[in-house]
Amino acid sequence: MSLFKTSGVIIKSADYKENDKLLWIYTEELGKITAIAKGAKKNKSRLFSVTSPLCYSDYVVFKGKNLFNLQEGKIINSFKGLMSNLDKLTYASYVCELIDIGLEDGEIDKNLYIEFIKTLYLLNTDAIDYELLIRSFELKLLKATGYGINLETCSICKRKIRTSKYINLQSYGGICENCNKDHSIHISKEAYAALKFLNKIDASRIYMMKLSGDIKKQIEKINLYFISTNYSRKPKSLEMLNYIKE
Ligand SMILES: [Zn+2]
Repeated sequence: MSLFKTSGVIIKSADYKENDKLLWIYTEELGKITAIAKGAKKNKSRLFSVTSPLCYSDYVVFKGKNLFNLQEGKIINSFKGLMSNLDKLTYASYVCELIDIGLEDGEIDKNLYIEFIKTLYLLNTDAIDYELLIRSFELKLLKATGYGINLETCSICKRKIRTSKYINLQSYGGICENCNKDHSIHISKEAYAALKFLNKIDASRIYMMKLSGDIKKQIEKINLYFISTNYSRKPKSLEMLNYIKE
């Protein structure tokens, strides 16, 4: 029996049998895994607190026949601040759902994992526009899974461009004046510049950005188009997000 030690975050959990929990954990060393935590539903279980949603811990697991088995865990951060604020909780659930729908089991990408953890930590602070933080994570996930948006060169003829009035939905990026505008959505010059900036900066620099509601909407529309067309299903927590925004 080989044991694996890895840090990870519980992105989803479900009750299983009488006392067990089924967990989806996004881990640093093993990618996304499904694990069973025996007895974890009991209050007295040593696994009780390390198996709650959003819990970020060092885990020890071993591979069973089909699933991993959770042996033990030591909490790094339980992100209690996210659990007690509905907006933050919804954004955090959405980020977890993106990992769930965007990655295959066992797909390891340490850079994306770091971005994911950073996003949860930044959500847990108060000095940032959460909507932009979410957009930034969406762009990082798209890039990591092979659907990155190209804004530096024309996505059709590859000529260098500074800006574009369109984002082409088939070639994933801006287009120059000469290329065909079919299958594209319109974007304002300001929104293009903001998207370009957001696509390259580190999440910790988002606090520098101040964008109007209209620009944020344009960026959201583009990101969501690529997310809902490329992954296994449309994220459900988005409905909740729209509800709390109203
Ligand atoms: Zn072109």
